[in-house]
Amino acid sequence: MKKDLPNPRRPLVAGNWKMHRTASDTRSLIQDIVKRVERVSYADLVVCPPFTSLPAAHETLGRHSILTLGAQTMHQAKEGAFTGEISGPMLREFGVRYVILGHSERRQYDNETNEKVAAKAVAAVSYHLRPIVCVGETLTQREATETEAVIESQIHASLAAFPPDQIDELVIAYEPVWAIGTGKVATPKQANDVHHQIRKLLVKRFGPKGADIRILYGGSVKPENAVDLMSQPDIDGALVGGASLDARSFFDIIESVRPPRASDHD
Ligand code: PEP
Repeated sequence: MKKDLPNPRRPLVAGNWKMHRTASDTRSLIQDIVKRVERVSYADLVVCPPFTSLPAAHETLGRHSILTLGAQTMHQAKEGAFTGEISGPMLREFGVRYVILGHSERRQYDNETNEKVAAKAVAAVSYHLRPIVCVGETLTQREATETEAVIESQIHASLAAFPPDQIDELVIAYEPVWAIGTGKVATPKQANDVHHQIRKLLVKRFGPKGADIRILYGGSVKPENAVDLMSQPDIDGALVGGASLDARSFFDIIESVRPPRASDHD
């Protein structure tokens, strides 16, 4: 059976709501976003509410929606004695199709190591969830000119066991830790340089098709900086934190990946 595979490098914009929005607040935010994005046909759009808001989001969206649901992490096991954890099949039950793995906040506060990310990414695709695997250097690492080495080891270790026949499902997010929630944003060149490096690493790991894996930028993306970032050749979309909690800002960021129309040049 043919799966609903994304076009290679079709733009993707994902909102990471983090620990924001109760279930009742979720309904109104989802409605507000849907109203604005109804006619967007040029990008895949994902929102990742907290676990407890997923049922409300799923119900509000209905069956055929322009917005796809994502989760902010998952456990690699199908079920078991893992208090507080959520598994892939539990997420699927609420229409979830994407899952963020290895977000720097999870790496920092919840010991989500490269090894765990690797196991979770394999589990995710086995449950038909698309992993968004996050990598990124800290400020100390950037200042010590270790960015390239850090990214290489994170990509290498986080994708160590990833099945090559599932790379259509894989998304990478480059999120410099120093730019997340800080208002500091990588310059378009800084971001694109790292994306370019990641693309080369993906080709090395998976062969020529690795070049088609989508790479999102994340780190204080706002309507004011989105166009410059999204116009970079190796940036395929955005993973947006704070600005995704406001329907208007999220929509403006989504617009920044819209391909130019003939009328834009009139
Ligand atoms: C994120 O949480 O992935 C993120 C990029 O956050 P922010 O956009 O708020 O920096």
